[in-house]
Amino acid sequence: MNGKDYYKILGVDKNASQEEIKKAYRKLAQKYHPDVNPNNKSAEEKFKEVSEAYSVLGDEEKRKQYDNRLRYFGEGAQRDFGYGYRPFDFSDLGSFSDLFDFFTGGRTATRTMAPQKGSDITAEVHLSFEDAVKGASTRISVNREEICRTCTGSGAQPGTHPITCPSCGGRGISAINQGFFALSQVCGRCRGQGVIVEKPCPSCRGTGRVTELKKLTVKIPPGVKDGTKIRLKGRGGAGTRGGPAGDLYLITRVAPHPLFKIRGDDVEIELPITFAEAALGAKVTVPTIDGLGNVNIKAGAQSGDVLRLRGKGYPRLGSTGRGNMLIRLKVVVPDKLSRAERDLIEKLANLHGKNPREEMLRKARI
Ligand SMILES: [Zn+2]
Ligand SMILES: [Zn+2]
Repeated sequence: MNGKDYYKILGVDKNASQEEIKKAYRKLAQKYHPDVNPNNKSAEEKFKEVSEAYSVLGDEEKRKQYDNRLRYFGEGAQRDFGYGYRPFDFSDLGSFSDLFDFFTGGRTATRTMAPQKGSDITAEVHLSFEDAVKGASTRISVNREEICRTCTGSGAQPGTHPITCPSCGGRGISAINQGFFALSQVCGRCRGQGVIVEKPCPSCRGTGRVTELKKLTVKIPPGVKDGTKIRLKGRGGAGTRGGPAGDLYLITRVAPHPLFKIRGDDVEIELPITFAEAALGAKVTVPTIDGLGNVNIKAGAQSGDVLRLRGKGYPRLGSTGRGNMLIRLKVVVPDKLSRAERDLIEKLANLHGKNPREEMLRKARI
């Protein structure tokens, strides 16, 4: 059982940093944790081994002693090393707290003495089509957790201080010894906080945070669409015990435009043209998202033809590029004709004898 190479067990180099050791341990502990592998003897063994290795290497002082032993007495010296094989017991929890970030089920608890990140919040932003295209600065109202100003976040009445929870010694977790393994649960006395506020702050009732309706100015970059999610780092709820604020997620709601349809990065518009313009060709004015522009229609254009204006489409979010503007032609046939018009079109029909269905009918023959 003794004479183990703790570095080998954690799969790290002898020169590994504390961070690397911690990372390796977390990975292995998560893999072999009894909560994840119920009734699996070999996983249980592995978990104990890994925990043992980490209880030494994870503690800089103990690691130094271990390394010194190795250096002075060689590999065999581990046999006599004071941190021999022993069951995973609850006293290890001090250095195990990080592991518990992974297990938030009923039996284990996150150690909440550590600073905690504030909560993320989501808000909808309603934008006009133009603001979505060009970007905008807009005001929104959100309910957000703020640090209580009365107690500056401690939760204790001004003039008093929170005390370390006497039941769990500030760990936030209490243990029930169940044979070989210690199960842990959230401390009932402090509800996992590790501290007890004897005289709660009247403004926040001891939570250290208050929810307030805040008016925020948010910057919307050009190119958002309906349903785009934007993350504004650090603009969510306030953290606890000096933890960072959460993030604010904005979901953009963009009003549809009566003319411009968004097709991916392209903007499409339907452009009505007359029969004469289609047949003879023409230069016509067309609305684009940059304003009015001119486009050449070549003689013989058909209904449904699409003209493409490169780089005149929708802005690509987070880049300077743009999609294309697509102009779909639609030949408009007059529904009312004057006498003169009718005469001319009849003349045209007689002149232009080609049946456009000729080829179709030929192909239809079986
Ligand atoms: Zn307060
Ligand atoms: Zn407690």
